[in-house]
Amino acid sequence: MNSKFRLALHWQILLAILLGGGYGFLFPDHVGYVSWLGDLFLRLLQMVVIPLVFCSLVSAITGIRTTGKLGRLGFKAMAMYLLTSMLAILTALTLVNLVRPGVGVDVSLGENIGAMKIEASPLRETLLNIVPKNLFADLAAGNLLPIVVFAILFGVFLARSRDEKNVPSLIDVFDAGFTVMMKLTVFVLAFAPLGVFGILAKNVALFAGESDGIARLGQGLGLHFMVVFSALVLHMFVTLPLCVRWIGKCNPWKHFRNMGAVLLTAFSTASSNGTLPLTLRDVVEKDGVSEETAGFILPLGATVNMDGTSLYECAVVLFVAQAYGIELTFFQQCLTVLMVLLTGIGTAGIPMASLVMIVIVLNAVGLPPEGIGLVLAVDRPLDMCRTAVNVYGDTCCAVVVAKSEGEELAV
Ligand code: ASP
Repeated sequence: MNSKFRLALHWQILLAILLGGGYGFLFPDHVGYVSWLGDLFLRLLQMVVIPLVFCSLVSAITGIRTTGKLGRLGFKAMAMYLLTSMLAILTALTLVNLVRPGVGVDVSLGENIGAMKIEASPLRETLLNIVPKNLFADLAAGNLLPIVVFAILFGVFLARSRDEKNVPSLIDVFDAGFTVMMKLTVFVLAFAPLGVFGILAKNVALFAGESDGIARLGQGLGLHFMVVFSALVLHMFVTLPLCVRWIGKCNPWKHFRNMGAVLLTAFSTASSNGTLPLTLRDVVEKDGVSEETAGFILPLGATVNMDGTSLYECAVVLFVAQAYGIELTFFQQCLTVLMVLLTGIGTAGIPMASLVMIVIVLNAVGLPPEGIGLVLAVDRPLDMCRTAVNVYGDTCCAVVVAKSEGEELAV
């Protein structure tokens, strides 16, 4: 597919960032000609998200067999996934609230979007709404949280009914649906350069009219980059090693050294799925995890366990809120945490997959989805970093679970 003369997608995006930024800066009054490209791209992202998440969750859950050892492994794996993702999100939450990188960006000065206020619904109602009353109404409205809850329940009971007549075919349908949705998502993401061009032009134009606008945006972005990068480093070099040491009773340094090639591959491909074959090989050959455990934990983790992605999504949502001058209440921050935890689970392990989810989370929290345009310029390098953390998190979970199963490890 990649002919020799075709520029790799990340270079195309970089070019689009420069050109879009240039256009918005030079022709702020004419962004209407190109901003529709960004709107169209955001619509496409929203188009794929629900079927993608639904199929991805159902097929990941039906991959877990609930009997015997696999049931136990599944339980331990899910506990580790949730624990590490939650710790990652809390790291981001703390750093973003301390540094407040978006505060100086002040989009509201550029346009009136800042005046948009979030409707805070009462806590009780929001929690109740997580359980769908009418699934089809939630599907039609694009409410991700109730859909995720239903998908998880549906997946669990589908897996439990696997011995009933015709159920295996239904499981196959969701597996196939996932394959197709992944392809469709990759197709949509191929339009990212055009979308990024439109979104960037519009966003830069917002700032171009003010003397210090661009400098403010640049400074905010720089801080955002540093905050996410530091949170990722903390998670990878402090939190995860401590989990390996305390929960797994293994040597984190040895494990880290064994994962060198895996981490570099994850970093350069920005795809957990793409790295999976290598991850499997090295966790088995170098760490000594059994093929059975690794073969179960790692593929599931590549879709479900996204420490870096959850951390990143949380940081972006808070950054956008700060940039628009919208103060998120403690409760809205908790809702954000819950949303990113669940959407992290549904994020596909391919480059830029977070963008799909962030648009949805922004919508859910009541922030303008085009706010994502503020951070696109630094998305790619952070995608590389967060993917390395995603994959490393999976390998740490594999080691901890293998050890708890009494396996003889080399770490
Ligand atoms: N690129 C990430 C991965 O494959 C997903 C994302 O955060 O975009 O793990």
